[in-house]
Amino acid sequence: MSLFNVNAVRQDFPGLLHSVHGHPLVYFDNAATTHKPTSVIQAEVDVYQQSNANVHRASHYLSSVATQRFENARKKVQRFVNATRPEEIIWTKGATESLNLIAQSYGLSTLQKDDEILISPLEHHANIVPWQIVAQQTGAKLKILPLSHTLHIDPHTLPQHFSEKTRLLILTHVSNALGVVNDIAALCKLAKQHKVTTVVDGAQAVGHFPIDVQQLGCDFYVFSGHKMYGPTGIGVLYGCYNLLEAMPPWQTGGEMIQQVSFEKTTYNQLPFKFEPGTPNIAGAIGLGAAIDYLEKLDRRQLITYEHQLMNYLQETLNTIPGINIITPTISTDQSKNIPIVALTFSHEHIQDIGMLLDQKGIAVRVGHHCTMPLMAYLGIAGTLRISLSFYNTRQEIDWLVESLNSILKHSE
Ligand code: PLP
Repeated sequence: MSLFNVNAVRQDFPGLLHSVHGHPLVYFDNAATTHKPTSVIQAEVDVYQQSNANVHRASHYLSSVATQRFENARKKVQRFVNATRPEEIIWTKGATESLNLIAQSYGLSTLQKDDEILISPLEHHANIVPWQIVAQQTGAKLKILPLSHTLHIDPHTLPQHFSEKTRLLILTHVSNALGVVNDIAALCKLAKQHKVTTVVDGAQAVGHFPIDVQQLGCDFYVFSGHKMYGPTGIGVLYGCYNLLEAMPPWQTGGEMIQQVSFEKTTYNQLPFKFEPGTPNIAGAIGLGAAIDYLEKLDRRQLITYEHQLMNYLQETLNTIPGINIITPTISTDQSKNIPIVALTFSHEHIQDIGMLLDQKGIAVRVGHHCTMPLMAYLGIAGTLRISLSFYNTRQEIDWLVESLNSILKHSE
């Protein structure tokens, strides 16, 4: 059994202590957003109570404290993903904004007519639509990669899809709909051999296992704070320094400039060139607190615990007739899946089951999960998704299974 002390950890998350429809909340919608530990909530409160000032601009005391905390949070992110320098960390609103920034700055300035963008069918809409738009703007083409039988992008078959026109490889690290983990290091290595730039969506990865962008060998890596126990409205774009340095600004305004006249504007150095306007100061500091929180836990124990929970969930769901598990069989290799299980039902609508589970206090997500092309690829309209965190328990899974059994029995 795991040594991970889930009962102690749950005390850190006040948002888990609710009752819903007369039942204790069972929160199984962690892929949509995670709950926040008290230390993260308190870090945001502290910003407004103790260091409320704008950053980088004024010479007064409070502003220098705010700036120091804000830049310190950037350094924490740098260490957290092992970027080579803090200038490689750009604050954004979230993964979505980071991807739009890459598409509209790097994509628009480098892509030409008939260039090819390789993209995986696993992508969230946030990593599809920005590339569709830049393809329309430049005349580049999207080429969709096939999935392996385990619903991964297979490094063995990737090379056959590169051509002389391939410029970009767009990949999610982890599928938000299925939980499958792509072998990003192997895929990026192949891309590099073909001089193809890599954009990796890490939104579902960062909360589950350690990320090392140097070891992954990617050019860009993006994520959101709120899916890794941090605040909403803050996210990160990691980019290789040389690429970021060569890229034109995207959004413009104060802070991203060096010199402005009506004749000519020159731009600020990295990372500020990509951070116009007043940033989400409290969000960035809150994200720094989330990193502190995760780093205090034993992440190896945490991964093992999440994997045990996921195995237990899959085993118990397998005992219920009329459930179709869409997530590929969970591997004993912990690097192949995060704890997400996607289901359909032989006779019932996912929306009905989602609503009935809510009546039992169980929060799950139903629908296409912002992955309509993946649903079309799989030939289904949507799934009921159970996404776990390290603060979930076997007892919660037992309650889910008991509830599903009773709901499905009554609907016969
Ligand atoms: N990419 C993936 C894989 C996601 O799961 C999500 C959110 O669900 C996003 C991108 C977009 O993240 P955000 O809405 O925080 O910008």
